[in-house]
Amino acid sequence: MKKVFFICAAIALIATCCKKKNVEQQVNEQEFQYSVEKFADLEILRYHVPEFDSLNLQQKKLVYFLTEAALQGRDILYDENCRYNLRIRHLLESIYTFDGTDRNSDDFKAMEVYLKRVWFSNGIHHHYAGDKFVPGFSREWFHKQITNLDLHADTTALNEIEEVIFNPDVLPKRVNQADGEDLLLTSACNYYEEGITQAEATKFYDDMADPNDETPIMYGLNSRLEKHDGQLVENVAKIDGLYGKTLKRIVFWLEKAKDVAENEEQKAVIEKLIEYYTTGNLRTFDEYSILWVKDLNSRVDFINGFIETYGDPLGKKASWESLVNFKDLASTRRTEIISSNAQWFEDNSPVAPEFKKPEVKGVTAKVITAAILAGDCYPYTPIGINLPNSDWIRHLHGSKSVTIQNITDAYDKAAEGNGFAEEFMWSQEEIEWGKKWGNITDNIHTDLHDCLGHASGRTLPGVAQDALKEHHSTLEEARADLFGLYYSADPKLVELGILSDPYAYKAEYYRFMMNGAMTQLCRIEPGNDIEEAHMRNRQLVANWVLEQSKDDHAVEFRQRDGKTFIVVNDYQKLRERFGQLLAEIQRIKSTGDYAAGKALVEKYAVKVNQDLHKEVLERYAKLNIAPYKGFINPVYEPVYEADGKTIKDIKVKYGEGYAEQHLRYSRDYSAE
Ligand code: ZN
Repeated sequence: MKKVFFICAAIALIATCCKKKNVEQQVNEQEFQYSVEKFADLEILRYHVPEFDSLNLQQKKLVYFLTEAALQGRDILYDENCRYNLRIRHLLESIYTFDGTDRNSDDFKAMEVYLKRVWFSNGIHHHYAGDKFVPGFSREWFHKQITNLDLHADTTALNEIEEVIFNPDVLPKRVNQADGEDLLLTSACNYYEEGITQAEATKFYDDMADPNDETPIMYGLNSRLEKHDGQLVENVAKIDGLYGKTLKRIVFWLEKAKDVAENEEQKAVIEKLIEYYTTGNLRTFDEYSILWVKDLNSRVDFINGFIETYGDPLGKKASWESLVNFKDLASTRRTEIISSNAQWFEDNSPVAPEFKKPEVKGVTAKVITAAILAGDCYPYTPIGINLPNSDWIRHLHGSKSVTIQNITDAYDKAAEGNGFAEEFMWSQEEIEWGKKWGNITDNIHTDLHDCLGHASGRTLPGVAQDALKEHHSTLEEARADLFGLYYSADPKLVELGILSDPYAYKAEYYRFMMNGAMTQLCRIEPGNDIEEAHMRNRQLVANWVLEQSKDDHAVEFRQRDGKTFIVVNDYQKLRERFGQLLAEIQRIKSTGDYAAGKALVEKYAVKVNQDLHKEVLERYAKLNIAPYKGFINPVYEPVYEADGKTIKDIKVKYGEGYAEQHLRYSRDYSAE
């Protein structure tokens, strides 16, 4: 529910809406290698942690202790995903690191890919699709390797493991959502003891819930449902219960973190979390969540716990995850400048005066830098998070919504060398301009969209909030995007010190048009319409502008070598057209003109040009871009005083390889 993922498998260019990115790349791009390796349907990237050195020593220590608390929880998720995962990972890693293994055989190479996929998915099922991996190595080969290792494994247990790996009928799906089947008996996840039926579990939790409780805990969130002597009981995660050894190690590091907390509010958050891990009491978890939501002044922040319930077919039990982060000051400063000038932007927009807000307040977006990803945030990670998940806490106390800047930056940087721009952009000029200004102007467009676009304009009295009905989202996103596009080209941005070149915006204009009119189609299955609101909005804007430009060719499609390209001939005209459409869509919203809104959406946003779609899919497929990407974490190393105990600094390092990192984690962060 609450995570925003980088939906486009490949193209950073099109994940524009509602995310923030960084203006200043403080990393030396020449030296930092974002893309590390590719296998199966995956690409492994690195992310950079800019501004880590701007933290003071106490904050650095806090980050370091929290990253240790994060990494300690790794095995919980493996066990939650399937009860065989840890044993299988251990066996595969033993074969992988055994000196006597022939590393050149096809079986070994296939096993290596399989193991890397297990690391990526925290288990033997695909992280996204949930299907069990099909091993490319033979059962005989695997059996022989285990025998060579001389692990004294008992034959029955080994046979059971082999069945799980090699028999496609055993535990085929991690989370089964198929209607009409018993979702617990047919799912491989480990939140319910084998044999417990969906009906039993549902009844157990229905009986537990008090319908009159206005502040209910999230029943079952942090436990495994088991059957003891025929009775259903919850085995609760706490330091003397389920995952006890691991939680004890997490608490060890949280205690250290508590001692270097930035302020009393943050200290109280950490103390409450320790209490929760000690008792397993979900009321305490709610108290913790409320304290966490209110801790807004600390630079460093973190998530550590049983949070998201996607992995349980009944949606009750949470996977364990952790994310340690700190506020990105550069980006936050930028959004503050934009927000504090909100009235100027409102007053000068091309919208009719009666539809403008007399008093507008911009929103300051919270932008963070991830310092470590762990559990269900690693290696596959969201670009934005909005927590807590408890409905009544959100209602009464609010929520924290953040975008993870350095992760989106890494996606962008990694996409630079993938051939996408060369394939789809008209000339070297657009490619170069995109390289120089694409990242910054895309960030600024997103800031304008989020901080001002959605907040701008007013609805006339008597017009219902939902007057635009099913087209509301598309038109609302179009309004925000157009507001951002119009002002992306405004000299005001240079005046405010947000941009240094008045023509930088051309990079964003070009790729917005290219994406909206063409390349976003790579995410649509052949024959389908466009459904998602942001995608509809982008095609609406692009196709409307193209049609308006039919006579003067300010923007047009052109063919070269049998391929279609977007060409922008007149950027000022393009800006005017964005302004015109903004004025019209604001009018539609302000007056609740459903018919006009519907006509725009139906004419420009939904239907796909079949020939162009086919062409885009073919050109895109040739680029061989991995659909999913995940990350290698940086390594934090304390530097000690001569006494060998007192930390005097923390260094962040990036050189670790993918396999190297996972093998180290298995060695250093396995408690059970
Ligand atoms: Zn939006």
